[in-house]
Amino acid sequence: LVGRMRPFGTTIFTEMSALAARTGSVNLGQGFPDTDGPPEMLAAAAEALRSGANQYPPLPGIPALRQAVVAHEERFWGLTRDADTEVVVTAGATEAVAAAILALCEAGDEVVCFEPYYDSYAASIALAGAVRRPVTLRPGADGRYGFDEADLRAAFGPRTRMVLLNSPHNPTGTVFTTDQLTLIARLCQEHDVYAVTDEVYEHLVFTDSATPHVPLATLPGMRERTLRISSAGKSFSCTGWKVGWATGPAPLVSAVQRVKQFLTFVNAGPLQPAVAVALALPDTYFTTFRDGLQARRDRLVAGLTDAGFGVLPSEGTYFVTADITPLGGTDGVDFCRTLPERCGVVAVPTQVFYDHQEQGRRLIRFAFCKREEVIDEAARRLRTLA
Ligand code: PMP
Ligand code: GLN
Repeated sequence: LVGRMRPFGTTIFTEMSALAARTGSVNLGQGFPDTDGPPEMLAAAAEALRSGANQYPPLPGIPALRQAVVAHEERFWGLTRDADTEVVVTAGATEAVAAAILALCEAGDEVVCFEPYYDSYAASIALAGAVRRPVTLRPGADGRYGFDEADLRAAFGPRTRMVLLNSPHNPTGTVFTTDQLTLIARLCQEHDVYAVTDEVYEHLVFTDSATPHVPLATLPGMRERTLRISSAGKSFSCTGWKVGWATGPAPLVSAVQRVKQFLTFVNAGPLQPAVAVALALPDTYFTTFRDGLQARRDRLVAGLTDAGFGVLPSEGTYFVTADITPLGGTDGVDFCRTLPERCGVVAVPTQVFYDHQEQGRRLIRFAFCKREEVIDEAARRLRTLA
């Protein structure tokens, strides 16, 4: 194995899901829903499979899906795009992020990101031979995560090639405010760098969030330098389908496509028409989906609070962060590795998403994209820890 990939072992999600299976624990670690997505989408996929849509789709994705991505972006975020040149369908958001970094970064270029970060970012940056410059997100007095302006400014330099931003943010559940985004946008323009935004949780911002979701690409001067990435996995509860996309100015989309054609070429032929159907669902689908997750968030937060954890606010995504300190925990990795034998529940240690691991040592992440009875059973088990 090449040196640049040696630091990356098995992902924490794989490790923790295997632990859950081995111990028969309730798995609130890896973020995937335990119920299926919209029936219209599933029916469309079944129909596509039966009607012979089983060969290679076109490289940028089938026209119906590209048009649906464009219509969805215009409906929710007011962005207008050309479906022929400004959209590429990818094997999940993961491939879009990797292809964007591989397409835009020379070896030694720097990528400004925010820690804790989604685990694939570090690996994709390393694959490109680029260097990550993580800016630490820290909880403020209200529990919402933010960053120091000075830290962000200091992360930019002559080798900066892009900012990689995830909002709504996994694992913290924080949604970046317009003020924070404005500062990021200003620095991108001052330093003339690209922005790559991972917005897979674009529809999961709860009604009590301090801020709505604002795509960075909608801020002045950002459309022309931003690649916006999303995925069907989260919005339509089909994480196993791996259908994602990137949208942006034609030269950036074309760069992603150049790389993508040699990573996977194309993907998910019969699933693409089904995702097109899902993206066109009425607004009520998206609000009902969000409200259902918000209710389950509240249920899990009540259970975690009852069990004695310090619970940080979750404004979006399907994750909530808990502080293990009140339960006598000092190290989230140890805590999560022993939690199954102590009470039969699996969570994910937040510290693995940091370069500066001490920042997240006492924090763990729970996923609440699970049926109510599963959340209740996890809460019942966690209460036995006290
Ligand atoms: N980015 C973030 C922030 C995520 O949480 C996830 C999925 N868990 C992904 C990317 C990957 O999405 P996909 O499965 O579409 O590749
Ligand atoms: N994105 C999901 C999470 O954060 C898991 C994705 C994966 O297993 N790679 O839990």
